[in-house]
Amino acid sequence: MELYRKGIAELSEMLRKHETSSKEITVSVLDRIDKVEDRIRAYVTLTRDAALSMADNIDRDTATGNRKTLSGIPIAIKDNMCTKGIATTCSSKILQNFVPPYESTATTRLFEQGYVLTGKTNLDEFAMGSSTENSGFHTTSNPWDIERIPGGSSGGSAAAVAADECIAALGSDTGGSIRQPAALCGVVGLKPTYGRVSRYGLVAFASSLDQIGPITKNVKDAAILMNIIAGNDPMDSTSASVPVPDFTASIGRDIKGLKIGIPKEYFIEGIDPEVNAAVQAAIRQYEALGAVPVAVTLPHSDYAIATYYVLATSEASSNLARYDGVKYGFRAEGKDLIDMYMQTRARGFGPEVKRRIMLGTYTLSSGYYDAYYKKAQQVRTLLKQDFEEAFKTVDLILTPTTPTAAFKKGEKTDDPLQMYLADIFTISVNLAGVPAISIPCGYTSNNLPIGLQLIGRHFEEEKLLQAAHAYEQATDWHKRKPDL
Ligand code: GLN
Repeated sequence: MELYRKGIAELSEMLRKHETSSKEITVSVLDRIDKVEDRIRAYVTLTRDAALSMADNIDRDTATGNRKTLSGIPIAIKDNMCTKGIATTCSSKILQNFVPPYESTATTRLFEQGYVLTGKTNLDEFAMGSSTENSGFHTTSNPWDIERIPGGSSGGSAAAVAADECIAALGSDTGGSIRQPAALCGVVGLKPTYGRVSRYGLVAFASSLDQIGPITKNVKDAAILMNIIAGNDPMDSTSASVPVPDFTASIGRDIKGLKIGIPKEYFIEGIDPEVNAAVQAAIRQYEALGAVPVAVTLPHSDYAIATYYVLATSEASSNLARYDGVKYGFRAEGKDLIDMYMQTRARGFGPEVKRRIMLGTYTLSSGYYDAYYKKAQQVRTLLKQDFEEAFKTVDLILTPTTPTAAFKKGEKTDDPLQMYLADIFTISVNLAGVPAISIPCGYTSNNLPIGLQLIGRHFEEEKLLQAAHAYEQATDWHKRKPDL
């Protein structure tokens, strides 16, 4: 098998045995990018030269015994994580020429371990969207059908992993942006517990919801990346001071007796019959593995989308106030200072970002704060309590990741509300702050991937990874590759 097709665990083993080098792997991935990237367009910036020199350094250190860790694995990073000296655009015209003077904590930790940066991946502008169609630059194609979207907002990262244009990637998830594109591209995506991974250097969209996580070819690789990126960081006051386990330790343990909650609110009318059938089959597979399905209820689920779009837009309107043409990136000419601000923001932001800034400014305004923002915070507490209640009787909760498989480009762009519904099954998880993973669980009749979501208690990623791995090993879905 070509090197670019393999995952982190397998390549690390080969590197350890000196059967390959970081350079060989990196060249294999860069060649793959040359072959397919014009059809997929997963990247905003390719860092070919940096990748080759990083790989050379690692091989040299390995040869001279200067290195304790043996990574050297090519990784792609969503372009909303700051990379020192490398453009970080958030796929927004307003940050088109922004080159950060500092490195995010997540990428710092990866590079310290010898990971090699292949480039920065496309996203919906400022991570606002579910398809990458809101990118200020271009839309990424789904490797399974290039007429379709890869999901979003981490669509570039998910497509790059699915098309083998990297060995693994990082994404960020505010309402589903890791899990939804992972599901639509047939790869694994983990949103960690809020606070598990430092947000330092992640360009803020909605700070109380944003979380960085891995997008990988298999479950074990997600655990390997979690071991590197998780953990307290003094640079992020919301990062949690809880012990970081070895996330790979639970992998391979059986799941006999594990109680898996099936929430009736997630098996609704409107869910695609093929998606429903695949998820039902996955429940039976879990039973065959010794897990016990238990009916649970998350009674406030109906309010999740509305609650999210009040809170996320409120936080976004505040976070995005910093783009004024003075401190960062793009600056338009103006008659005076105020006009310069207005021209810069009018031309720098795309329509979805503007819509959200307006919505969020409205919900935070003194006349409407109690009716919208405060009310949404109260409902958020109810949604969190729903999960707490359910987790009194079950270990995990199982749902579809998305109501449908990947949709066609342009299908939902004229109707923002339809686009918002793409995250109906992922959004509550961010509001509650709990971790969740999406793994492949089947294909539609036209060969589009379907994703299964497992949701866990706060800081119980290990159990998620254990259960996800058990299912993965019992099925072959993760072995299929798009025909490119
Ligand atoms: N699709 C959701 C939104 O548009 C979630 C995005 C995300 O998780 N970053 O806000």
